Amino acid sequence: MRSHLLNDTTAESYRRSVTEGVERVARKLASTRGPFTGVTPAGLAPVVDAVDLDRPLGDASAALDELEDVYLRDAVYFHHPRYLAHLNCPVVIPAVLGEAVLSAVNSSLDTWDQSAGGTLIERKLIDWTTDRIGLGPLADGVFTSGGTQSNLQALLLAREETGTADLSKLRIFSSECSHFSVQKSAQLLGLGRDAVVSVPVDRNKRMQSVVLAAELEACRAEGLIPMAIVATAGTTDFGSIDPLPEIAALAAEYGAWMHVDAAYGCGLLASRTRRHLLDGIERADSVTVDFHKSFFQPVSSSAVLVRDGATLRHATYHADYLNPLPQALGSARAGGTPSTLAEQIPNQVDKSLQTTRRFDALKLWMTLRVMGADGIGELFDEVCDLAREGFGLLAADPRYDVVVEPQLSTLVYRYIPEAVTSPTEIDRANLHARKALFASGEAVVAGTKVDGRQYLKFTLLNPETTAADIAAVLDLIAGHAEQYLGENLVHA
Ligand SMILES: *Cc1c(COP(=O)(O)O)cnc(C)c1O
Repeated sequence: MRSHLLNDTTAESYRRSVTEGVERVARKLASTRGPFTGVTPAGLAPVVDAVDLDRPLGDASAALDELEDVYLRDAVYFHHPRYLAHLNCPVVIPAVLGEAVLSAVNSSLDTWDQSAGGTLIERKLIDWTTDRIGLGPLADGVFTSGGTQSNLQALLLAREETGTADLSKLRIFSSECSHFSVQKSAQLLGLGRDAVVSVPVDRNKRMQSVVLAAELEACRAEGLIPMAIVATAGTTDFGSIDPLPEIAALAAEYGAWMHVDAAYGCGLLASRTRRHLLDGIERADSVTVDFHKSFFQPVSSSAVLVRDGATLRHATYHADYLNPLPQALGSARAGGTPSTLAEQIPNQVDKSLQTTRRFDALKLWMTLRVMGADGIGELFDEVCDLAREGFGLLAADPRYDVVVEPQLSTLVYRYIPEAVTSPTEIDRANLHARKALFASGEAVVAGTKVDGRQYLKFTLLNPETTAADIAAVLDLIAGHAEQYLGENLVHA
């Protein structure tokens, strides 16, 4: 069994099996006819069930053959131009290369003595990101598993910074289109059920700052504490960006922590033509970025950034075996005593909610070293341009109602039949079209509700998708919706 351990004597076998795996995936990517095969859980479950985990195959080729049946053949492929559903991106090759290296070396970023250069690389990327945001000289941050964790950590810091023990008094303000992880974080942080105040959006799905101001005033008048305002820079459904400068001014006026959830919109940080859409983000106390959304990175790759690095101490705990208190440890320099913070051992665990932690930063590092930020920004600009084009198509198409002109790369729309029918039937027809499309495997689109009605959604993150793809998928949706309505007319 030692022959399966990665070490100097098995390096050649590692090279062979990784090459074989990569070749199979490459063949797969070149041959997938649609983003999905349409397999059902009931269809695939017996194939997975039939595998006896206690009878290993002993051989990578055989395991890869089996993987074809249990996974690769029926996976959902985000690189396919007709995968238009969720905030998933096709990945750039330098990042996948980084993934292969980081898994093989298996650094853990919690402490310097488990990662060395990895720690410095992560820190440099954090600095690079805070510079792009404009958070100032004291800024810091840490890589996380995703936007959900980043939001949780940011709100933890915000809670601690209030210095209030009476958690029932704390309020978080976020738009009705903000991510559900805000609500989830409030719950996890022990705030009351009413802690999150949902602020209505305008017709462009951006937080109404006038209502926010009124809510903050009401909060103050009731003797409650405005703990944080969460501005979303790229809402999950609409890609809308809340008015960051107005929100920053209100946060300052009411002494609230300003968190910008740029899980989706962070790609603008690399854009040469759209960076201004994030103006005001530099005034945030904390920012969430998901490199695994608009930086074309493999899952996971995310970070939370803060204006004042000292606030990260709220996530600092010490363990004798891992990261003893600095005084107990002494200096990094042999025989010395730590005279400055910089001389202390850099242990990233002091800033993180996680302990053992992947070296995800390496993927972004490789990406920037090979392609540069402009390369990423260009890709993101392309999908934003495509969304504009798609909006034009939808707006000109009498079969569709499109909700809002996109700021980023999402389109929310619904099929409206020519024949008069009830809104409920239209809901069902759209829902049916989405399911039928998924089952056909020809394209994958998402769905969401707007004012209680069923809508469909394209999240465009694949620069290979064309306007012709969008037009073709709209025709497919119309066909499925009409088929449903035809079959159900008797019930109407
Ligand atoms: C995706 C998303 C999140 C959650 O990020 P995960 O990486 O999925 O945990 C949070 N906020 C917004 C606006 C998002 O789009």
